[in-house]
Amino acid sequence: MSQNDKAKGRLLVVSGYSGVGKGTVIKALMKQHPEYVFSVSATTRAARPGEVDGREYFFVTQETFAEWLADGRFLEHTTYLDRSYGTPRDYVESRQDEGCHVILDIEVEGALNVKKACPEAILIYIIPPGAGELIERLTGRGTETEEQVIGRLNKAIEETAVIPSYDHVVVNREVQETADEIDALVTGSAPPRLTKEEGLALARSIRADLAAYLKKVEEHDTISGSVFTDKETTMIHPSYSELMTKINANGTAEDPVVKSRYSIVMGTAKRARQMVDNGYMEQEDHSRKPLSIAVEELDEGRIRILSDAEYARMKAEKEAERAARFADPAEGEEAEEAAEAAEPEGGEEKEPEQEN
Ligand code: 5GP
Repeated sequence: MSQNDKAKGRLLVVSGYSGVGKGTVIKALMKQHPEYVFSVSATTRAARPGEVDGREYFFVTQETFAEWLADGRFLEHTTYLDRSYGTPRDYVESRQDEGCHVILDIEVEGALNVKKACPEAILIYIIPPGAGELIERLTGRGTETEEQVIGRLNKAIEETAVIPSYDHVVVNREVQETADEIDALVTGSAPPRLTKEEGLALARSIRADLAAYLKKVEEHDTISGSVFTDKETTMIHPSYSELMTKINANGTAEDPVVKSRYSIVMGTAKRARQMVDNGYMEQEDHSRKPLSIAVEELDEGRIRILSDAEYARMKAEKEAERAARFADPAEGEEAEEAAEAAEPEGGEEKEPEQEN
């Protein structure tokens, strides 16, 4: 083996359930280890706001994509939601030749094609510690509608079937720990934390919990308040159904404050995440889970979910206030200081949950 062969970097495919935190793990891995580089794919889909050509993707026309494909410039390619995506062979191979480990963030079909084209590629599948964590992350980030969350959970259930084709299953408990574990697998510096069989067994149990959760949601039975975790079930008291009745006592039948239990699930999960993020859980010795505390806060009226009408009114008031401040900057500064002083910790909890 020549010196050059020895220095060649590895090709690494990282996949995982939507919401598992894969992007954050990849960023942490690259921050800690500059020898990892991210492969930028080509796509025919339009750039989303904030995306930069050459950073997230090379945004190309269908004609250019077809040309590159005919020229054999893709290591693998796929069609996803009617748009083409492809991994540029040149970039991957030249960076590997320089000794970099190249990371591909591609969907599972592409991952399996990479393995066929490059059997030495390492395929890693990231799973959460339990179904509860995935559900809480997807609902807690508040960026998806109920249908989208259910779609993503269903996709996770489906994808579980292909995990056996991956080389390793890694559990994402803590971002840096996961990034370090991936590095250890790539460099061979430490054995996997879980054997593949253990990882697959955990993935299967998560799939079973997700399926049970979705069945409950479908039946409109009681998500009533239980959220799965890998170790135990967190009982929510009062139940989401009871909370819904209580909250809607402030609305009317035609204009209820919340239209579904899901808004409460989203709202309390968001508040729970906020408590963790702002260090509230570390300030005091809480034996309870943040989600239980959030439910209690809601029950006791310490946080509130606003109806659409209330939200619109509050937003208009805030805008009027801001406009007034612009009209008189000196007064505005004072008002701002006073508002900051009066703002309760975690003011964001007053944000409404938007019904979709
Ligand atoms: P998005 O349009 O949301 O950025 O990506 C859609 C899907 O395409 C994601 O699952 C992403 O991982 C996958 N993807 C992105 N680039 C490639 C690629 O070059 N090849 C394959 N097979 N999938 C890709």
